[in-house]
Amino acid sequence: MRAKTFVIVGAGLAGAAAAAQLRKDGFEGTVILLGEEADRPYERPQLSKAYLRGETQREQLDARARDNAGREGRAAARNMLDKREPYVRIPYFYSDQYDLGMEYAGFAPTWDQVVFRGGPASRAFIAFWLKDGRMVAGMNANVWQVNDAIAALVASRKQVDVGRLVDPAVPLDDVDALKPRAAMTLP
Ligand SMILES: Cc1cc2nc3c(=O)[nH]c(=O)nc-3n(C[C@H](O)[C@H](O)[C@H](O)COP(=O)(O)OP(=O)(O)OC[C@H]3O[C@@H](n4cnc5c(N)ncnc54)[C@H](O)[C@@H]3O)c2cc1C
Repeated sequence: MRAKTFVIVGAGLAGAAAAAQLRKDGFEGTVILLGEEADRPYERPQLSKAYLRGETQREQLDARARDNAGREGRAAARNMLDKREPYVRIPYFYSDQYDLGMEYAGFAPTWDQVVFRGGPASRAFIAFWLKDGRMVAGMNANVWQVNDAIAALVASRKQVDVGRLVDPAVPLDDVDALKPRAAMTLP
């Protein structure tokens, strides 16, 4: 049987990650990566960071695909190989600008309420977007190692206990879904 040829349109981070994943999964046929730029795939986020600061050279902006583009590219490759894996990751992005670093998980085109753990004035805080009592997105700014817990709360789609959510003494992993009130408990 003739080996398949895969054509990936878009030679950015996702395209590069897809091509690399095809090889990693043992695909030995031809892979054609089509892009409209003259450069090989490169890491765009570093353009506004290390490259602009003069800390890295153009040739070193290699396509180490991370986060969304990497995960999406790898997922696309696995499905090109008929692995039939749905992509269910909660949307995510990060940014580092000077002394402010932040991560955001979820997607909040609309919301009812924004609550904070810590205050924006402190420049180290977490903001949570809530809709119908459920967390639809969270952003940690200069606070680290919490984004997985935020994504898990968003993914749960359960109503959260806002008092515990904003209380810095309560680990985010322990902010359970809103407990039923005593009056709702069956005798
Ligand atoms: C300056 C800058 C800073 C960034 N900083 C961050 C950050 O801090 N955090 C973060 O999470 N994300 C950041 N991003 C976003 C991140 O770079 C993108 O999420 C990521 O590059 C998306 O990868 P992609 O492969 O999906 O798309 P792209 O990188 O946009 O690649 C798409 C590719 O498709 C090609 N293409 C488009 N149209 C055609 C066509 N018709 N035919 C053929 N080829 C085509 C393009 O030339 C390109 O090569 C930043 C982006 C920029 C530009």
